[in-house]
Amino acid sequence: MFDRVLKLSIACAYFVVLRWLQWWGQAQQPWIGLCYHEVTAAQKAGFLRQLRLVKRYTEPVFLDAPRRMSQRPQVALSFDDGFINLLDNALPALQEQKIPVTLFIPSACLGHAPPWLQGSSHENAQALIMTAAQLQALSAEHILIGAHTAHHADLSRLPVAELDEELQTSKQALETLLQRPVNTLAFPYGRYNEQVLERSKAAGYVRVFAADPLAQNSDFFMGRTTASPDDWMIEFYLKIHGAYQWLPYAIQLKSRLKRRFQ
Ligand SMILES: [Zn+2]
Repeated sequence: MFDRVLKLSIACAYFVVLRWLQWWGQAQQPWIGLCYHEVTAAQKAGFLRQLRLVKRYTEPVFLDAPRRMSQRPQVALSFDDGFINLLDNALPALQEQKIPVTLFIPSACLGHAPPWLQGSSHENAQALIMTAAQLQALSAEHILIGAHTAHHADLSRLPVAELDEELQTSKQALETLLQRPVNTLAFPYGRYNEQVLERSKAAGYVRVFAADPLAQNSDFFMGRTTASPDDWMIEFYLKIHGAYQWLPYAIQLKSRLKRRFQ
């Protein structure tokens, strides 16, 4: 809780500075990718409140849309892991409000509880991932499907042959299933390194995503801000206005200090 309030306080200060810079024409409206996981029945009302803020204050875009100047923050919603509860609690509302969304799917885990969480006490350990048929039935117009490797692998730890296998088989399996190109990828656990970025490009991905904001987004590699339907409204308001974009600088500073004092 202390950590959350501290981050919120920094975000408030960052928001004031950002607004001031925008007022003087020194900063553009931000691009924000939001990284969700699930929306349970109990979280549905909170999620709907967040969608109202997205509609009111931002321009919702697809994660793979070309970046451009805008009068409002551009916000791209995404969900990692493809849990079934999205079918009832998130996707109908997104479709009704015409808010684009991207689902990142671990292609070899369809129809199962997340294998990477088994044996843990994680809250999603018993949640099911969509089946192949459920994925095929989703509207291609409002929902972009991206890869999340085949087995939800920590790509930063794999030797290059296994890394290539995870990257290529997930892309091919989803393309065969959906009969459309799959050009985006989100790194499981948000973990990556230079080799992962390089091999992802070689596997044919056009845009890849971290799970945290990056100090510098490129057209190929972009950061996202973690979001949850349980976020406080003020937290969520600040997230969709780019006020949590200071996080990568704090992480860099923390690791620099850690190295210095080790
Ligand atoms: Zn994941």
